[in-house]
Amino acid sequence: MSQEFFPNTSPGTRGLVYREPLIFERSVPGRSGASLPSAGVPETDPADEIPAELLRGPIEHFPSNSENEVVRHYVRLSQTNHSIDTGFYPLGSCTMKYNPKVNEWAARLPGFANAHPYLPPEQLQGVLELMWNLQNLLSEIGGFAATSLQPAAGAHGELAGLMIIRAYHLDRHGTPRKKVLIPDSAHGTNPASAALLGYQAVELPSNEKGMLEPEVVARAMDEDVAALMVTNPNTLGIFETHIKEIAEIVHAKGGLVYGDGANMNAILGVARPGDLGIDVMHYNLHKTFSTPHGGGGPGAGPVSVAAALEPYLPRPVVVKEGDAFRLDFDRPKSIGKLRTFWGNFGMMVRAYTYILELGREGLRRTAELAVLNAQYLRKLLEADWHVAYENPSLHEVIFTDRNLKETGVTTMDVAKALIDHGFHPPTVYFPLVVSGALMIEPTETESKETLEAFAAAMKAIYERAKTDPEGLKRAPEKPVVERLDEARAARKPVLRWTPDFEIPF
Ligand SMILES: *Cc1c(COP(=O)(O)O)cnc(C)c1O
Repeated sequence: MSQEFFPNTSPGTRGLVYREPLIFERSVPGRSGASLPSAGVPETDPADEIPAELLRGPIEHFPSNSENEVVRHYVRLSQTNHSIDTGFYPLGSCTMKYNPKVNEWAARLPGFANAHPYLPPEQLQGVLELMWNLQNLLSEIGGFAATSLQPAAGAHGELAGLMIIRAYHLDRHGTPRKKVLIPDSAHGTNPASAALLGYQAVELPSNEKGMLEPEVVARAMDEDVAALMVTNPNTLGIFETHIKEIAEIVHAKGGLVYGDGANMNAILGVARPGDLGIDVMHYNLHKTFSTPHGGGGPGAGPVSVAAALEPYLPRPVVVKEGDAFRLDFDRPKSIGKLRTFWGNFGMMVRAYTYILELGREGLRRTAELAVLNAQYLRKLLEADWHVAYENPSLHEVIFTDRNLKETGVTTMDVAKALIDHGFHPPTVYFPLVVSGALMIEPTETESKETLEAFAAAMKAIYERAKTDPEGLKRAPEKPVVERLDEARAARKPVLRWTPDFEIPF
C-alpha cells in the first residue's frame, strides 16, 4: 500500500503527518467496482449535454476503482480512529460506555427502522407505544410528572428546559426574569443555553471541596433569577449534598431548579432528581442510556418536568386514549416544536431496549458498578497522581498534573502518551476550575483487568515523566498522525477535498 508523508512544520510540533492517498487519487481509468445492467438508453458524455456557459470548468469523471480497493480504503480509514468497540475510552463527563449490540438489533427491526413519520397514527401504533413507554420510564427514573423525547442532544434539552422555565415565568409573573445561576464547575453548554435565550448567566463559585454552598445561592438569589442550573453529582464527580436546601432557597424566591442530567450514571435507580427538588431535567440517552455517540450524532436529550410545567412541554406529546396512542398537538401553552418530526427515534429504540434489558435492579447495579469502577481507579492511581478534591467522588474522578510540576510534563503530554498505550485520553483541562485536570470516567462496562491495564499505563507514563520527560513530550508516536497543532486542527480544519489539496501547515 502506498503511503505519503508530509513534513509537519507547525510551530510547537514535530514529525510527519501521514496522508492517506484519497480514493480519487487511486483511480485508474477503466477500473470498476460495479456490474450494472445495460442502461437501455444511449450512453452520452455529460460534457456534451450541458451547455458550456453553465459549466464552472471541465467535468471530472467519477473515480474508477475496484470494489476491494474502495472497501479497503474506507475500512483502513475507519481503523485509524479510536472507538468504544476497539478500546477503553475514559472520557470524563461524556460517559463513553459500551453500546450493547442488542440495542442495534432492536433499532434495525424493519417496523422501527422503516417507520415513516408521515404514516397515519393508526399505522404507527407500535412506534407511538414505544415512545409513550419511554416517556413514562424516564419520568419514573427521574422522578418527574412528564417527559418530551423531542430534543436532539443534551444542549438541545437544556434549551428546551430553559424555554419551558421562561414560558412558566412569563405565564405566572408576566416576565421571563433576567438571570440564570450556574456553578463554576458546570458544563459549558449551561451558560451557553442560558445566553441563547437572552438570560444573563451568573457564575456561582464552588467551595474548596468542589461543592455549592446554600449561602452562596442565597446571596445570589433574588426575584430576577429565573433558575439555578445544577448538575448532581456535579462535573467534579461530587454529590451536592445540600441540593434539597438549595432548591428550597431558589423556590422561596419563585425561581426554578434546572437539573443537568446528561450524566445520570452515579444515581441511576438510586436517587431521583425530582425527589430532590429539581423541577426540570434533561437526560442524554447517548450517555446514560448507552446509545452510541462520539461520532457527531445523532443524540437524544429528552426533557422531564414537574407537574406544574407539563403544559409548556414541546409539542406534540404522545398520549394514550383507551388502547390507542396518538400525537397531541393541541397544547396551547407549549413552547412549540423543537425538532423536525418527533425526534431521533432510533435513539429512543436503543435506550428503551437498554432500560428493558436491565430493568429496575439492573439500572441500579449500573450506577453501583460505575461508582465502584471510578473508586477502584482512584485507589490504583492516587499514589502517583494528585487528586483534585479529597472528598469522595462518585462515577468520575479528577486528577491533575501537579505531581509532575518539576518535570515540565503537562496534562496534555499525559493525554497524548496514553494514545501510545492504546487508550483514549480522559477529558483534559475540564472542569475549568481545576488546573491541569485529567477527568476520568471509567463507566460500569469496563472489567477489572481493563482498569488495571489503564492504571499500569498511567504508572508507566508517570515514571517516564520522571526519567525521560523530553521523550514523553514526543508522544504519541504510534498512531498514523503524530501530535497535531490542536488549535489549528480545531479552528482551521480541512474537511473537504479540493484538487489542489495540500497539508495546510
Ligand atoms: C455532555 C454534557 C452536556 C451536553 O450534551 P450534548 O449532547 O453534548 O449536547 C451537558 N451537560 C453535561 C454535564 C454533559 O456531560
